[in-house]
Amino acid sequence: MNKDISFKAIALRSFVYKSNHRRIELITENNEIISALYYKRKKNSSFTVPISGVFYLTRTKDQYPYVIKDFDLVYDYNFIYKNFEKLNSYNIWANILKKIKDQGRYYNLLKASFSLLEHYDAKKIDILFLLSIIKEQGWSFNLYNCPLCNYKYLDIDIIYYNSNNLTNCCKNCSENTSNLYLPPNARKYLKLYHHQDITKVLDLEINDNTLTSIHRYLTRYVYFLLNGGINYDKFGML
Ligand SMILES: [Zn+2]
Repeated sequence: MNKDISFKAIALRSFVYKSNHRRIELITENNEIISALYYKRKKNSSFTVPISGVFYLTRTKDQYPYVIKDFDLVYDYNFIYKNFEKLNSYNIWANILKKIKDQGRYYNLLKASFSLLEHYDAKKIDILFLLSIIKEQGWSFNLYNCPLCNYKYLDIDIIYYNSNNLTNCCKNCSENTSNLYLPPNARKYLKLYHHQDITKVLDLEINDNTLTSIHRYLTRYVYFLLNGGINYDKFGML
């Protein structure tokens, strides 16, 4: 006997299933991860995977126990399909969450990030997302002292990276092999994320080079922690 359920959810990832259909991994507002099949109704119609809304599912006895029967849009996040940078943000968030064991608890972070992504620069929202993950996972990211030698950074110092310890660090503690660094103005901007009203920070004008260097540093910082080290082959796109 089939049993129907419904819940608010965000689609985390989508996989092609039997060439025409999709298997979608949903993160629900109850912080569960549910995998469900989404069948294409007409053979040649376009197929856009819904990102967020109320999903109506039927439980089956097949390999994948849920099938998406219907869908109500609550928040329309499909704007990301029209903008490469915003779509890239969605990919970065999904790639990070798939590596995190307690990924289910990030529904609210995803929802908030999508809402902001509609109105702000994608890199700024990625930075906010990455800092939230770092904080929630209990990873340190010290903008004031080198975590390896406790050196107190001066305003003019550059922050480097130590790949053996998977941490940010001062120049002396870096291995000088990585081109990963945060210039002083990037550190100044990042401090604002900790101390100011977040919409005020997002409204600030900031030059694209600074934003790009922060984005690059933080994305790699989180990926290296998730992957247990540096594998540059995986970072062709970043
Ligand atoms: Zn140091």
